[in-house]
Amino acid sequence: MKTKQKRLSSILQDEGRVIIAGPCSAESQEQVIETAKALGADGRVHFLRAGIWKPRTSPGSFEGMGTKGFEWLNQAKAITGLPVATEVGSVQHVSEALKHGVDMLWIGARTVSNPFTIQEIAEAIRGVDIPVLVKNPLCPDINLWEGAINRFLRAGVSEIAAVHRGFSQSGKSTLRNNPNWSVPAMLRERIPNLPIICDPSHIAGNHTLVAPIARRAMETGFNGLMVEVHPNAEVALSDAAQQL
Ligand code: PEP
Ligand code: MN
Repeated sequence: MKTKQKRLSSILQDEGRVIIAGPCSAESQEQVIETAKALGADGRVHFLRAGIWKPRTSPGSFEGMGTKGFEWLNQAKAITGLPVATEVGSVQHVSEALKHGVDMLWIGARTVSNPFTIQEIAEAIRGVDIPVLVKNPLCPDINLWEGAINRFLRAGVSEIAAVHRGFSQSGKSTLRNNPNWSVPAMLRERIPNLPIICDPSHIAGNHTLVAPIARRAMETGFNGLMVEVHPNAEVALSDAAQQL
């Protein structure tokens, strides 16, 4: 099932949207391959996502399987033809991900909040032809989000997309992260040609709320979705409640 990989930009141009799906974290060979096979068979998915290093709020939580997970991602890619994406939060992560042939990188919400780290990661990617997805920072600070994107643009990264995953909030809400839809709308005004993808999984925090958020995003002009899926979500090692 090997075909020449399409670039992120040509997927967006030809199909009008990009779909990225996969587990929150790569947990085992079986889990990664079972997920990839199902997504490949579904036919609508362009990239397989899986976290190799997980930025957890509290120490002692599952922090990812680390570099051995790349072997599973590459097996999944060989079987399904799906290119793979993972999160990087440091220069060392970038170097490991590139060494293991990852096709697309994303920068998580916690990392985007730190301009020092973003600058270092942007420098590490300079001259490398790889797409970068920049999630919104935890707080609804559009300047911080735009600033991170501009650091990658200045480093010459030619394929960049923003990912809206909602903002931290205090107090009670049915959603895990506040979508605050006006912030991505403002980003679109500031950088008109930038693709903006929605991650309804981290906005929802619960699998029952993912579909309506995804629908709303697509109806209001988002350029695609990044969705967490797991073959047995109840026992997932991270983000169990929100994975489809
Ligand atoms: C993730 O995509 O699994 C993740 C950790 O995302 P975020 O940075 O949006 O919390
Ligand atoms: Mn997650």
